[in-house]
Amino acid sequence: MFVVMASTATEAEILGVKSQILDEGLTPFDHVGLERVVIAVVGEVGARKPHLMGMLAQLAGVESVTPISRPFKLTSREFHPEDTVIRVLDAVIGDGGLTMMAGPCAVESRDQLMETAAAVKAAGATVLRGGAFKPRTSPYSFQGLGVEALRYLAEAREETGLPIITEVMEANQLDIVAEYADILQIGARNMQNYSLLNSVGRMSKPVMLKRGFGATIEELLMAAEYIVSSGNPNVMLCERGIRTFETYTRNTMDLSAVPVLHSLTHLPVLVDPSHATGKRWLVKPLAVGGVAVGADGVMVEVHPTPDQALSDAEQQLDLPMFEDLMAAVVPIHEHVRGLHGDLRAWGSVPAAGGSGLSKH
Ligand code: PEP
Ligand code: MN
Repeated sequence: MFVVMASTATEAEILGVKSQILDEGLTPFDHVGLERVVIAVVGEVGARKPHLMGMLAQLAGVESVTPISRPFKLTSREFHPEDTVIRVLDAVIGDGGLTMMAGPCAVESRDQLMETAAAVKAAGATVLRGGAFKPRTSPYSFQGLGVEALRYLAEAREETGLPIITEVMEANQLDIVAEYADILQIGARNMQNYSLLNSVGRMSKPVMLKRGFGATIEELLMAAEYIVSSGNPNVMLCERGIRTFETYTRNTMDLSAVPVLHSLTHLPVLVDPSHATGKRWLVKPLAVGGVAVGADGVMVEVHPTPDQALSDAEQQLDLPMFEDLMAAVVPIHEHVRGLHGDLRAWGSVPAAGGSGLSKH
């Protein structure tokens, strides 16, 4: 449930509500909106709900108490109507601009990374990607250069000024990855690794959470809820394709997830057409599609010589192809900038307050 404070509520009244929530063994999370403070009550409420709602509604400074039927709370639009905007170095994610994350599937050598970084920066990328620790389906495949790759990524950041994103696969890599990375990536295979989610939730670096290939949108949001409820509000989501009965593409890119997520959550939403399709020639059309449906950004795999890549060779773009993709997505993004607002006008976002218990 959410406790909506009156716009005139004092600091002491807000504290009073929070301490009552704590006394019930629950956790209060407050969101300071433009007009008022909303306090989410997080924890196992169970059968106490009607009693708690009645009790909280009577407290000084409380405007209303709203039950919330959805299982995700802190990531929901009801709790936090404004978009979350994430700033990392010079990149701003979720402010209506277009974030372009590009770079190799895996960092393979210093030269390969430096050449890619310079080229994607020149073409307009805003974040540099590159896998250091790779989650591979086969244990015999290239597993990444590990810490050596992290050092090259840091060097590429120095050269280009681009923030770097790289995957962290397990909690015991977290300290070393966070020492170098600007954005921590949680891969599809780890979307429901709850102890890892809690661990990145305790970090101060932004996190990009990729949708598991068998996960529903609600499961993705619940995974994000783990990170946010552990204390890290800077989470972005990435649709990277889900497994369906279709075998021609590596996965099926769920384009409808983008506007659905925008309606349900305030977190930025990106798409990854590289892993979604698995085929180089499909990356541009699906990047265009993702941007057209309102994605805040696109993650694309780029390699100077894709055919020789040590991982995901078939889906990585070469440097001119990335330039070509940029030229295609930028005008589409300009064209659909207002789309997000349109969806709200069509009633996709539930009104804050809903059928709450009001004191007045
Ligand atoms: C990646 O982006 O490097 C990756 C492995 O993607 P996913 O987790 O979506 O498979
Ligand atoms: Mn890859």
